[in-house]
Amino acid sequence: MLRFAPSPTGDMHIGNLRAAIFNYIIAKQQNQKFLIRIEDTDIARNIVDKDKEILNLLNLFGLLWDNLVYQSSNFERHRQLAQHLISKDLAFYCYCSKEFLESKRLEAKEQKKPFRYDPSWAEIEKSSNTKPVVRIRGASEAISFEDAIKGTLRFEAHEIDSFVILKEDGIPTYNFACAIDDMLYDISFIVRGEDHVSNTPRQILIHRALGYDKVLGYAHLPIMLGESGSKMSKRDNASSVAWLLEEGFLPQAIMNYLISMGNHTPTEVFKLQDAYNWFDIKNIAKSPVKFDIKRLRFLNREHLKMLNEQEFALLLDSKDSSIGALGKLHLQEASTLNEIRSKIERIFSPKCIAQNEEGENFENECKILYDILHQMIESYDESLNDYDTFKNALMAKSSLKGKKFFKPLRILLTGQTQGLELSEIYPYLRFFLRDIVRLSK
Ligand code: GLU
Repeated sequence: MLRFAPSPTGDMHIGNLRAAIFNYIIAKQQNQKFLIRIEDTDIARNIVDKDKEILNLLNLFGLLWDNLVYQSSNFERHRQLAQHLISKDLAFYCYCSKEFLESKRLEAKEQKKPFRYDPSWAEIEKSSNTKPVVRIRGASEAISFEDAIKGTLRFEAHEIDSFVILKEDGIPTYNFACAIDDMLYDISFIVRGEDHVSNTPRQILIHRALGYDKVLGYAHLPIMLGESGSKMSKRDNASSVAWLLEEGFLPQAIMNYLISMGNHTPTEVFKLQDAYNWFDIKNIAKSPVKFDIKRLRFLNREHLKMLNEQEFALLLDSKDSSIGALGKLHLQEASTLNEIRSKIERIFSPKCIAQNEEGENFENECKILYDILHQMIESYDESLNDYDTFKNALMAKSSLKGKKFFKPLRILLTGQTQGLELSEIYPYLRFFLRDIVRLSK
């Protein structure tokens, strides 16, 4: 079984989504089940309803799960296994206060040594502390594991000291709950962010202490860099999946982008299902990858092009395929749904004919054309049916020509002074002329 294990403590980051996608693809390729495990062990940091938000996003991206579990529902199991380790002397109660540990940490710092927990401290404060934590005994030998991206990773025994597995309130720590649940649900391969590399030997230590000898596969994904070249943080808007969706990036384009980042793919543009045929986690680059919004914009445009007019209309909250066609035409100059929405909105808004941003003033010409157009619309003039006939009729009636004709006409029809060829969009605009040709007060 493969799994994705989000913590409901913050918004879904694209790095998390990338891990979810990779785990999902591997599950599909290997015909294995895909588990979602909500890691709600950090009770103080859990955010109400974040779990639902994450599940909704996974659903939207089509990353459907076979099984869903909340880690907190296994707490009893985690505690039992901690007791089992204590009974075998593979774990022990530690009564050290935070102050005591802090003083030891400072001491190590002064001596310029890395801080390591010493099990001989465990009961020094036993009489004054009634709420011990449980620690697993640190490694007695080096722990190595194979990472599909980074190769063999080795941690010396002294790097893995006796760490906490149950907190003073009996809640398991992330490493303990994670290692046990990976065992209970028979997880075979784990893709996650590289910030978890140092947790992996600890999780392996837990498995070994419990006598679980299945060798899990791991792939730790390199960090993502923001446009500025430093680690992509929550402050980078594009790091939030919700933000990208709000901007009008399609889930299929975001997936295409995240799969192709730091990877060689047989085609530039593809769907999730295509990746089942060729995706190999081993091909993901070891080095950090830079988030390139320009590339995402390109892919978004390509995926939008693949939609038919009816589908496109729905994304623009319309059932009218002419609106969908209009939206598709605007892909020549826009890449996100929001950009297209704003172009279409301008077409349907009352037009401001006062001096434009370029300092040009076509107010008089606009008024002339408006009056003629208004009359043509009211009388259902037949020449409105076709662009050339319409243009010629309007030109003749207004006696305007060249820039003094086309600019004001464009303003009246689109609310902009530049844009797509009018001959291209007019066939769709003509159905809505009554709504389009209006002046703002
Ligand atoms: N809850 C952890 C996270 O969101 C999961 C890490 C893992 O996949 O083990 O980073």
